[in-house]
Amino acid sequence: MLNIDLHCHSSISDGVLTPTQLVERAAQRGVATLALTDHDDIAGLAEARQIAETKSITFINGVEISVSWRGRTIHIVGLDIDPDYAPLVEGLAQVRTGRAQRAKNIAAELEKIGISGSLEGAYTFVGVRSLIGRTHFARFLVEQGYAKDVKSVFKKYLVKGKPGYTPHEWAPLSDAINWIRGSGGRAVIAHPGRYDLGKNVLNDLLDEFAALGGSAIEVVTSSHTHEQMQHFARHAKDRNLLASCGSDFHGPGESHFDLGQLPEFPLGCTPVWHHFKTSFTTELTY
Ligand code: AMP
Ligand code: MN
Ligand code: MN
Ligand code: MN
Repeated sequence: MLNIDLHCHSSISDGVLTPTQLVERAAQRGVATLALTDHDDIAGLAEARQIAETKSITFINGVEISVSWRGRTIHIVGLDIDPDYAPLVEGLAQVRTGRAQRAKNIAAELEKIGISGSLEGAYTFVGVRSLIGRTHFARFLVEQGYAKDVKSVFKKYLVKGKPGYTPHEWAPLSDAINWIRGSGGRAVIAHPGRYDLGKNVLNDLLDEFAALGGSAIEVVTSSHTHEQMQHFARHAKDRNLLASCGSDFHGPGESHFDLGQLPEFPLGCTPVWHHFKTSFTTELTY
């Protein structure tokens, strides 16, 4: 098992645990290297780093940026970023501004099928108000008995073609990659298996991502089946892209892999951390 987890969320965005609680859980579970990657915000990094130091965890500054590409939402994880880099800080602030209005739109969509009070309900699950998102609505819908858990919500609500969906324009792909690269970090395509792209569109996305300076594909993630990990490992090798791994942990019981519970990379992957500024040793050899 990998003791490196490069994708997880705190209560700053849509995770359940505070940055401190998250790092404590990672330490208990034997994580040696951890990146916190909240959606569109880096406000949890300082606290997480401080606790990580007391636990002898190597901490990597991270973020997960919401991007619109050809009318679809794609997530780009930035790793080993500089949280003081002004274009990144300003860019993320810009990405966040749309979330409050989007939340109102989501609530209006849910109202249409007779679900009322979802805006106020979703906000009761939010840590930082500007980061309101679909997961908070999902937790509200679970609380109200519309689905048994968060994962099931996304099968019936909040996604394209289902009640509660509303289109939204996030950052351009090139901006997200430039902010990350400009800050000295590495850009990673998060959970590519989740976008349900056809072969040609996936190839276009990977080509464009690489041409714009993207570094890695998230091969190992809670969102992928074993077959998808093999599939995306091949894509990474074919294109000379690096491979990343992360649980995408949001809270106990909410993701397939818990913190520090990741299977190892398929053979032949070059880990993204080989190209980090932050150096650390792992007990694994590749
Ligand atoms: P947002 O950024 O507001 O669009 O919310 C996206 C978040 O919703 C993701 O980061 C996940 O936490 C959650 N999400 C989206 N799709 C799913 C899914 N199929 N299963 C579980 N959570 C999901
Ligand atoms: Mn999330
Ligand atoms: Mn994501
Ligand atoms: Mn995530």
